[in-house]
Amino acid sequence: MKNLLLFLTVITMISSAKQTISYTLSMPQPHTHLLSVEIRISNIVGASLNMHMPAWRTGRYVLMDFSGGVQNFAATDEKKHPLPFKKTDKDTWHIEKGTTGTVIVTYKVYANEFNMRTRELNSDHAFVDPLSVFMYTLESKDSPLQLTVIPYGNWKVTTGLDDVSGTPYMYTAPNFEHFGDCPLEIGNQQDFEFFVDGKKHIISIFGEGNWNIDTLISDFTKIVIANKEFWGELPYNRYLFMIHCQPNAGGGTEHINSTVMGVRPFIFSNLIAYKGFLGLVSHEYFHTWNVKQLRPKAIVPYDFSKENYTEELWVSEGTTSYYDDLILLRAKFWDTKRYLENIAQMVNNERLRYGNSVQPLAEASFDAWIKYWRGRQNAQNAESDYYGKGSHVSLCLDLEIRHRSKNASSLDTVLRTMYQRFPRTKGFTNANLQSVCEEFGGSSFKEFFLQYIYSTDPLPWEQVLAYAGLVVTPKDTLQKVGTGITTLDAGEKTKIANIIPLSPAERSGLEINDEIIAMNGIRVRSADFTERIAAMNAGDSVSLLLFRNDKIKEITMKLENYGTPNFLITKTGTPTEQQKAIFEQWLHSPW
Ligand SMILES: [Zn+2]
Repeated sequence: MKNLLLFLTVITMISSAKQTISYTLSMPQPHTHLLSVEIRISNIVGASLNMHMPAWRTGRYVLMDFSGGVQNFAATDEKKHPLPFKKTDKDTWHIEKGTTGTVIVTYKVYANEFNMRTRELNSDHAFVDPLSVFMYTLESKDSPLQLTVIPYGNWKVTTGLDDVSGTPYMYTAPNFEHFGDCPLEIGNQQDFEFFVDGKKHIISIFGEGNWNIDTLISDFTKIVIANKEFWGELPYNRYLFMIHCQPNAGGGTEHINSTVMGVRPFIFSNLIAYKGFLGLVSHEYFHTWNVKQLRPKAIVPYDFSKENYTEELWVSEGTTSYYDDLILLRAKFWDTKRYLENIAQMVNNERLRYGNSVQPLAEASFDAWIKYWRGRQNAQNAESDYYGKGSHVSLCLDLEIRHRSKNASSLDTVLRTMYQRFPRTKGFTNANLQSVCEEFGGSSFKEFFLQYIYSTDPLPWEQVLAYAGLVVTPKDTLQKVGTGITTLDAGEKTKIANIIPLSPAERSGLEINDEIIAMNGIRVRSADFTERIAAMNAGDSVSLLLFRNDKIKEITMKLENYGTPNFLITKTGTPTEQQKAIFEQWLHSPW
């Protein structure tokens, strides 16, 4: 009886041993751009094993097909005997493993895609978003894993991953999703520390530039504190700001306890450009809560094998875009005059983009995978932008809640509540957001969501800005001559990059990609095209000589008063007490 029990216990232990996975990354020849990966998978049950390469990375909702960069795939057992394998789809390698319990997979990845913030290896450094480099198995993806990095030469590693104490360059993650959300910088980057609330923050800079580390630490600290005041806590033990200071660098990506941001090396002495960079820092850091913690339900958990459709990206990206500027104002990087100019620009952009009248914001979120990130030629005319329009709707929603609650609540209150009620493992929907808005706004937001998120109604800028005592007026005359054309200077050629639907240009029969050679017999250069048009009058006809598919064409366009005016935002001269109070609490600035 005793022996039988022991036997049963051993059987149970064997069958319940979970598959484990560990990774080794090396880069022996950086100039070849080839990263070398070795993956050891143990406790495999069954006669075969599927290895999967992620199809996309977090923060960029488009399939990037990382398997396209994989080469020299091989699989062996523990004794280095080769195992047969074949690909069964674009991302999957099927290995016939036989009786062995451990499989070792090796492959190389071509890494020269810096601007995608995915993978790069060259003689200067390596940058690795793990989702673009490492394969996973479905059986081990929820289990703890280890990564060992063998840096080239004297390079070091900076990452948000926790290290395994006592072992150089060995890291651990609780599961593949967390692993995939911790990029690594490997090279001679410079790391600087500062502390907020006793928590270590690291600024890691790859590349030279005219930055001043004391200024960066002082300004980043203000952004961290402003966010901590907003959300109530810092949801990490340690945070890493990775900066790529490189020519032509720009943009950033948020991660679970880090961000990677690109900036041109010599912008730091230019105050406007530097504040633009702080806007990027503010944006990516706000994501630490909004999208890395407060996540759309459809991306809980992430499925790296295919598109993860969600109607809530306008909250993740648009609301973050709204607050990235607002937090800079509240942290005193901007004054209210500058912020009101920013709102005027938001009004201009929203009214100018024809696609806002075609595609609802929820649909723009859902279709990010096939539209926004594909950069389609007719995007301006057919698509709403879930970043830009999402930020515009967020501003309107904020002022609507402040007005209805008589300044007792705001979108700040709603987001903080959402953050507490919908933790990372739960996720939220637009319906959840609407419900919390109603709770704090005190009345139904059904119409608001229907009109501005699920339909394409023009935003009620005049109405909502008046809640804060602000007035929207056209900055210039409504009566100005326009064509609806955007031109592109392609070397010596002036090409049509966009034509707004229902504009004079569209009515005249002009097409995108037409090369305008001359107007009224005189050569056109894109720099002077708009100026020459502006000097004409409504009713004038212009003769345009074109190349279209290498054939000469002549088209006559009749000019009209056409276009959207630029707007100006000013404070009313006769504010009510509530308007003043809303203004002050919204912007954290005196009326
Ligand atoms: Zn973002």
